[in-house]
Parts: sequence; C-alpha cells; structure tokens
Amino acid sequence: MSILVVGSGVAGLTAAISAAQRGAEVTLLTKGALTDSNSMLAQGGYASVLGPNERTPGDSVESHVQDTLAAGSFHGSAEAVRVLCAQGAESVAELIARGVPFDRDAVGRLLLTVEAAHSFPRVLHVGGDASGRGLTTALLAFAKSLADEGRLRVIEHAAVTSLVLDSGAVTGLEYVSSDGLRRRQRASSVILATGGAGQLFAHTTNPAVATGDGVLLAARAGAVLKDVEFYQFHPTVLQVARADGGFDSQLVSEAVRGEGAVIRDASGRAFVSDYHPSGDLAPRDAVSRALALHQRENASGQAYLDATGIAAERGRDFLARRFPSLDAMTRAAGFDWARELLPISPAAHYWMGGVATDLHGATSVPGLYAVGEVAFTGVHGANRLASNSLLEGAVFANHAVAHALSRGESWTASPADFGEEHLEVCVPEAPEVPETSAVPLRALLSPAILSRTDVQQAMEQDAGIIRDAAGLNRLRHHLSSNRAADEETHDLKTLGLLLTESAAARRESLGAHYRQDSVSGGSEPRGGVVLKMENRTSTAELATAGRMA
Ligand SMILES: Cc1cc2nc3c(=O)[nH]c(=O)nc-3n(C[C@H](O)[C@H](O)[C@H](O)COP(=O)(O)OP(=O)(O)OC[C@H]3O[C@@H](n4cnc5c(N)ncnc54)[C@H](O)[C@@H]3O)c2cc1C
Repeated sequence: MSILVVGSGVAGLTAAISAAQRGAEVTLLTKGALTDSNSMLAQGGYASVLGPNERTPGDSVESHVQDTLAAGSFHGSAEAVRVLCAQGAESVAELIARGVPFDRDAVGRLLLTVEAAHSFPRVLHVGGDASGRGLTTALLAFAKSLADEGRLRVIEHAAVTSLVLDSGAVTGLEYVSSDGLRRRQRASSVILATGGAGQLFAHTTNPAVATGDGVLLAARAGAVLKDVEFYQFHPTVLQVARADGGFDSQLVSEAVRGEGAVIRDASGRAFVSDYHPSGDLAPRDAVSRALALHQRENASGQAYLDATGIAAERGRDFLARRFPSLDAMTRAAGFDWARELLPISPAAHYWMGGVATDLHGATSVPGLYAVGEVAFTGVHGANRLASNSLLEGAVFANHAVAHALSRGESWTASPADFGEEHLEVCVPEAPEVPETSAVPLRALLSPAILSRTDVQQAMEQDAGIIRDAAGLNRLRHHLSSNRAADEETHDLKTLGLLLTESAAARRESLGAHYRQDSVSGGSEPRGGVVLKMENRTSTAELATAGRMA
C-alpha cells in the first residue's frame, strides 16, 4: 500500500510516521524546508486530559468536550469532539514514545497549565512556550530515523500543485521540485496535511507557507469544503517592525493571560469584560472582537497586554522562566514586558473550516484524506478552543492512516452526507480576467492587477473580524473582476472568493463569523455551509453564483 503525505507539520509527520511504522510505502512531500510549518511556531501547548492519576483533580474528558463545544458556540460536532478529547491521553503517550519532551516538575509529573476557555489546567507544554518547536523537532528526528532505515522517503522543497484523478478517485499528485521541474507521483492514497491559510490576510501569525494550498487542491479535485467562513483571529499579537519597513506579527500566547496578564486600553482600563462576561479569558473570537470593536469606538483604540502584574506578584524573572521564547522575542522587539505594556492587535491565526472529512479523515473524493488544519472534522465549531489544534492533527492523522491501510479498494467515506440541514453553495474558480484592452474606453475601465498584498488587505478589510453584506459584496467584486499578478496570487484570490461566498451565505453572527448586519431568526444553515467548486467560468456567471449576502 503506497501513501503520499503532503506537509511536514504535526499532522503530516504523525501520518507519515504511523504509516511507515505499519509497513506502508510512504513518501512525505513538503513545500519548503521540513521545519516550515505552523506547527513549528505553536507556543501554548497540547490540550489533553491525562489518566486519572496525572490529570488535574476534578478534570475529565467530558469537561474537555464541553469546553470545546462551548468555545465553538455549540456549532461543532459533538461526536467528533468526543473522539478528539477521548484520545488525548493515548495521543500524549504516543508523542512521548516518539521522543517529545513535555515539561515536567521536579518529581517527573507532567506540567499542566490553563488557557482561555478551559475549565481546568490541562495544557501540556514543551520548553515553556516553545511547544510547537519541541513537538515538531522530536517528530522530525523520529521521521529521520525511519528515513535512515529506508522506511520513509522525504522530499523537501516540493510544492504540490495538483492531484491526479482517475475515474473520480485520487491516484497521485503533481509537484514542482527544487530544480523547477514538474513531477508526478502515484499512490493508493494521498493525505493532505497542508495546514492553514493565514496568508490570506494582511496580518497573520502564520508563516509564508500557510497559503491554504490543500483546500484549493482538494476543491479543484471535486472535494466538498465546509464552514470556510470561520477564520479565527488571535487577539494578542505584537507587530514587530522589520528592517525592510514591514512588520512581523508575533503571537503572545494565551497562556500569558492564563497566568494573569490583562488587556488594557490607552487609558489603562481593562475593557474586555465590557464585551464578554469572561473578560480576558473569554474564547478567542470574543476577545478579538472586543479589541476590534473597542478600536472602532474609541479614538485611541490601541490595546495593550499588561503582564507587569505577573512580574510584580511572582518576581521579575518569572516571565523569563515560564515564557523563555516570548521573553527573548519581546526584548528583541525593544520591550521589557516585566515593566512595560505590549501594544497588541488581532491577526489571522487559524482556519476552522476546510476540506470536509468524516472521522477517518476521508474526504468526499475516493483516495483523498485531509488531516490537521486543512481539514474540517467538525471539532472546532465556529471558534477553536486554545491548544486543541495540535491534538486534532495528531489524532486524526492516525485515523486517516488506519482507514487508508484497511480500506483496500473500497471507499466508504460519506462526508458529503451531512445529515443535518445545511446550505450548499457552488463557487466557480476565480475567473481569468482578460488582459487590458487596447480600445481607449475599455482601457479606462480596465481591471487592476492585484498583487498578493492587495488581496490580503482586501480580505482583512472586508472578510476580517467585522463583516457585513456591503463589504462582502465589495470584496467579491474586487476579487472576481481584477486580474491577479501571478499564479500564486490567483490561487490566493480564488481561496478568498471561497471564503467570501461562504461568509455571504451565513447571514447570522456565530463564533468567529461576526456580521454587524446579523440577521437573527432567519433560515440559518445550522448544519453548516457546504461549498463545491465549479469549473472555470466567466465573470458574469461568478457574479450570480451562490450569492446570498
Ligand atoms: C504562532 C502560532 C502559535 C500556535 N500555538 C498553538 C498552540 O499552542 N497549540 C495548538 O494546538 N495550536 C497552536 N497553533 C495552531 C497550530 O500550530 C496549527 O493549527 C497546527 O500546527 C497545524 O498543523 P498541521 O500539521 O495541520 O499544519 P502545519 O503545521 O501548518 O503544516 C503544514 C505543512 O504543509 C506544507 N505545505 C503547504 N502547502 C503545501 C504544498 N502545496 N505542497 C507541499 N507542502 C505544502 C507546509 O510547508 C507545512 O510543512 C498555533 C499557530 C501559530 C501560527
């Protein structure tokens, strides 16, 4: 049985390692270096309810389930959430066996911290606030040992550009290798683990590789997408000036608020509780919305993260010990956060929607699986609970491998059969807008050429934290009637259109999808917005397809 795994984050590495250990012929391909991933950047940790003797007294799998559903505005699938949370302890044991050095106390007990919207301390971490690096580095080392034994093949700098279909089933993929050549590889199954799409927006915590490729690859192969309107913005992001005049968005983990940091406005007031009763420890969507609304309603809307109280209470060196990476990052950016406030703003962080899968990670296209952030399993609902993402990647990667190895030639997945009331929207591929015409009148009306930055800024303005019909219509028109400067921007634009159509279809606010023109009590698709992509079509057709805003 041959399996191609696309992506070298936690989901892809877990899938590749598990498949190789079970004797499959596995090749892992990744777009950049092996270390380029969201997984590498994760800070806070890995949410899991451990065995009865290791967990926080009073905590339970059911409590984790309820917290996950509540953070997701009860839009998630209770069945999927139960599968996720029930496998926390098993998943941690597997990671430890693969070399992940979770932080422990002096007597060797696993350390657990609390994060926003978790009822108990249940978040494991590595290296204090370098959980992603610790986890990914260990899995990479494990994968390398399998590769050295000839049980796993790894191809770096291999950008997968399309999936190969035979009679409606995925039988391989095409990629561009580091020498610029386009190559084709066949396999019984392809597992997409390509991560999120933070690069859709002007400000993001995600690395450059997070361009949503897997969602587009799957959609173009005919796979069903679900709930792609739900994009989570993280509230506490420090904008650090770069030498070239640009900015890097540096996340300051929720765990810092878990330890007692507070968000304040320019007058020093802790304002988040004006917008949500849980204040600074409210779910992420609520805190980000509080920042965005407060900024809009106040002339000096700049928000700040105040960790000085933690330093005052627990000693000046506590922050450096508990959050060594953040301490180094803030100092390099010119801040002493033990004594001064950090200016923060929200940035695009995590995509709840994605390629629809069943609980085996199987998509609606035979032979194709999606795991990790690229997938929609239903666990995150309308807003992801902190530290559930790495867990989701590891748990469902194993499910996908088990299914791929056991299914033989049959394909039993039925993710398109959602069972509940849902709204189906067909979105065409972003049209190829014609070149500028030589005719003078046409030239005056000619479409602009969109750069990547243009797409990102338009997306952030009209499909960011605060949305409405006018903005979504403007965005739809902007993206569909202007040409993209290059192929990559065209793909980003197409992805942006998918998100825009989905956001337009959901007219009521829910979780991370906030419509300031929210229509309540309408015929909302409680079962979710399901997207399918049509073949390339004309601008005129696009303007009418799936429009509901
Ligand atoms: C700053 C930050 C902090 C976070 N902190 C936490 C946390 O504490 N806890 C938590 O649970 N989650 C956290 N998250 C979210 C979490 O890191 C991600 O959701 C998770 O790592 C996604 O894992 P993944 O394996 O699905 O994707 P990724 O880790 O993003 O990996 C995707 C891989 O796919 C590759 N790829 C993409 N496109 C292609 C292509 N066309 N061809 C080939 N390869 C491709 C990429 O190069 C990459 O290797 C954080 C995210 C960020 C950005």
